[in-house]
Amino acid sequence: MAKKDDICSFCGRPRRDIRFAIQGIGGIVICDECVHSASEILKENEFTPTSANAKKLNIAKPQEIKAYLDEYVIGQDEAKKYLSVAVYNHYKRLRSNAERSSKEDVEIEKSNIIMVGETGTGKTLLARTIAKLLDVPFSIVDATVLTEAGYVGEDVESILSRLLQEADYDVPRAEQGIVFIDEIDKIARKSDNPSITRDVSGEGVQQGLLKLLEGSVVNVPPQGGRKHPEQKMIAVNTQNILFICGGAFDGIKQKIANRLNSRTVGYNAQKEKDAIDFNNLLQYVAPQDLKSFGLIPEIIGRLPVLTYLQPLDRDALKRILIEPKNSLIKQYTKLFELDGVKLNISDEVIDLIVDKAVEFKVGARGLRSICENILMDKMFDTPTSTDKELTIDVEYARKQLSNDRMTRIQAS
Ligand code: ADP
Repeated sequence: MAKKDDICSFCGRPRRDIRFAIQGIGGIVICDECVHSASEILKENEFTPTSANAKKLNIAKPQEIKAYLDEYVIGQDEAKKYLSVAVYNHYKRLRSNAERSSKEDVEIEKSNIIMVGETGTGKTLLARTIAKLLDVPFSIVDATVLTEAGYVGEDVESILSRLLQEADYDVPRAEQGIVFIDEIDKIARKSDNPSITRDVSGEGVQQGLLKLLEGSVVNVPPQGGRKHPEQKMIAVNTQNILFICGGAFDGIKQKIANRLNSRTVGYNAQKEKDAIDFNNLLQYVAPQDLKSFGLIPEIIGRLPVLTYLQPLDRDALKRILIEPKNSLIKQYTKLFELDGVKLNISDEVIDLIVDKAVEFKVGARGLRSICENILMDKMFDTPTSTDKELTIDVEYARKQLSNDRMTRIQAS
């Protein structure tokens, strides 16, 4: 402990203004506030890519990343593999470029990712889970709100506002983050041939986005939305930001089929065609299909890792309900457990939930509202009851789902 007449050797404040001080060798004193600031500085520097600390960035190996994803996301093995490798390479690239001693050394380019898959199949979940593993700032933005500068809607740079907020405006930390751009297919050009008239929601936005994807310093409005002259902008370098794009690309299957069908004729071509699984065409998605869908070639070039997600079948939906680390059933069990109640849900009820999700075509996203409807009354009554165990059987579940609540699920 420091003595009464000491001052902090770092900020110079006298002892009486200091709550707590620590004395070091040779009479040096440091106050609690300076200790706190020093700790903040350390934390910040850990994420500065050009600093020596970037070299220490702890990178999980692709197989470790995939194993982690497996705990939260069911199936989608192909997408998991692609993502794991891309993310691993991305952070390896950060480290290698930070260590690069001369300009002659190989500079590794970044590999942004694009995932094609029906809505509700796990694209966002995959991106979110990866960000959790890496402990880097992560933000989700919807491409549908973006329009070209000068038009109604948000400027492309606002994509980074959310990331800055997530990083508590710590710019170096945000500059190593991950941005998930959802519904990228909605900014596709409306027709394949570039038109003379301006396509406000399409090509112009893609051109704006290109700047961010390839890596440049952009001025970001801190609060998002539109830029205006009086606003103070924050400069963000996007060179090390990993962009993961996702989209359902409705109608792309037809384009894939057309491409596969129009392969040259001949015995081998016919054999190749016979091997194609026309029920699951997304697995054959290729950059040229994205182009025929209306993404400009420059954007496609900046999204070199292209992967797809499978539609979820009954079996996958059932597994989603029970298997992931924070599956819905595990979450409800925990909720009741917090009230000291043991929840038992029969296997038949699980099947019923899956049946309803399939019947109403609500996919994995709808599972939650079905569960809510079954358990709502019990969640209302249980906290005041003295029961220590609650069993939900299929008759009860059916009854709960038979009233008009199901119409709401369908509508949602
Ligand atoms: P997308 O981004 O493809 O539209 P999401 O990732 O937002 O879909 O999925 C919606 C919800 O459905 C998730 O929050 C999750 O609860 C569930 N879900 C979807 N796909 C999976 C999956 N493969 N494994 C586990 N849960 C899933």
